[in-house]
Amino acid sequence: MEEICSREKCTGCSACYNVCPKSAISMVESGAAGYVYPQVDASKCIDCNLCRKVCPVFHPVNLNEPLKAYAATCKNESHLVGSASGGAASSIAEIIIRNGGVVYGSVMLNYKNVSHCRFTSVEEMYMMRGSKYVQSSIGSTYRQAKEDLKAGKDVLFTGTACQIAGLRNYLHRDYENLWCLDLVCHGVPSQKLLRDNVEFIYAQCGQTPARELKVHFRDILSTQTSNLDLRFGVFTENTIPRKLQIFPKNTYITAFMAGLTFRENCYSCPYAQPKRTADITVADFWGYLGNEIPSGWGISLLLPSSAKGLALCEKVLPYMNFEERPVNEAVKGNGQLQHPSLRPEERDRFLIEYERIGDQCYKPLLKSYLRKYRKRQLKELIRKIIHSTPVSSFVWNKLRHNK
Ligand SMILES: Cc1cc2nc3c(=O)[nH]c(=O)nc-3n(C[C@H](O)[C@H](O)[C@H](O)COP(=O)(O)OP(=O)(O)OC[C@H]3O[C@@H](n4cnc5c(N)ncnc54)[C@H](O)[C@@H]3O)c2cc1C
Repeated sequence: MEEICSREKCTGCSACYNVCPKSAISMVESGAAGYVYPQVDASKCIDCNLCRKVCPVFHPVNLNEPLKAYAATCKNESHLVGSASGGAASSIAEIIIRNGGVVYGSVMLNYKNVSHCRFTSVEEMYMMRGSKYVQSSIGSTYRQAKEDLKAGKDVLFTGTACQIAGLRNYLHRDYENLWCLDLVCHGVPSQKLLRDNVEFIYAQCGQTPARELKVHFRDILSTQTSNLDLRFGVFTENTIPRKLQIFPKNTYITAFMAGLTFRENCYSCPYAQPKRTADITVADFWGYLGNEIPSGWGISLLLPSSAKGLALCEKVLPYMNFEERPVNEAVKGNGQLQHPSLRPEERDRFLIEYERIGDQCYKPLLKSYLRKYRKRQLKELIRKIIHSTPVSSFVWNKLRHNK
């Protein structure tokens, strides 16, 4: 067996790796950009075809309409600090663990290793808080989750929708004691791209990153700015100038925001739509039109799509400030609940140039994205200035009407 499914469609979910009875499959980095694909060792393969039987590319999972939509933030502000947005995912995880259950989620072990791990204590589970803007390695966590399910434990598995699809196909049946939580996701770069970028910026400063270095991608504490984009970065240590870490100077995060560096399949992601495969979907509630939830730390969107997911949401919401909103509002405000990320024009060149010159390839490729970004920023600034006083606002409206 040469290839399990085509590279354009493979999500790297690792269902094939987990199911193989002969351990004939490894998840291997490919090429300079290092996206991970399954590799079959022909000498071990017995052609049982189980890898194809669990592959979501050949066997798409069921998708369900969201039943409700909630805007929410964790009541406990200290929990919000490390969370990606409103802390919904870790609040749900906490409920499962406090009831004796097990949680699976993604952890930044160090800048070279972002992996799914198993948690049975709340303190350890906090390690999974925060978005890691990179593909998390599933390892053998599907197998571990199956063992927990068979032992009758409550299991919450969190991840991107393609990882939840992989788990569902691997398990091959529903379990009453399983809850799946997915994140709205616009695509994942490879761990190699992140590793290369961290090493590149350290090299620019004549330094080498420590093996145990951890990076984070959202800076909600120190950047008191209303411009959310400026809170994104590859944040490392004080020895590295801030401008090398933060959007739009940090090339890894800027290429991520520009959608240049995702796995190929992300540009045709079948899960980037309102119907969901998880029991609960969480995201940033970008299009929130209510006014009950303070937005200082970011607002979580919770979208339960099964009766089980809704019941779990109802357990966690008393620990959060929340407001029910129309499902439509949530979908309208979030592009990733409507369609996959667009494949940028520069994508093919990126793949070639990264192979040739690595991290140095980004700057020219990001030029047009940054031009458009700055134009948008300028428009926003002008709009703010115009509406900053009643007089300027009045004059502007007058001029527009006289046009
Ligand atoms: C690659 C990526 C792209 C995203 N794109 C969007 C987007 O376009 N629009 C949008 O609204 N939201 C997006 N999100 C989701 C958003 O950033 C938050 O993760 C989400 O709102 C949950 O926030 P929280 O405060 O509830 O989570 P927290 O309480 O902080 O918990 C974080 C949760 O995310 C999981 N997680 C973190 N990183 C990964 C990863 N790399 N792979 C799998 N699971 C991970 C953890 O296991 C944990 O369950 C994206 C997240 C990721 C990881």
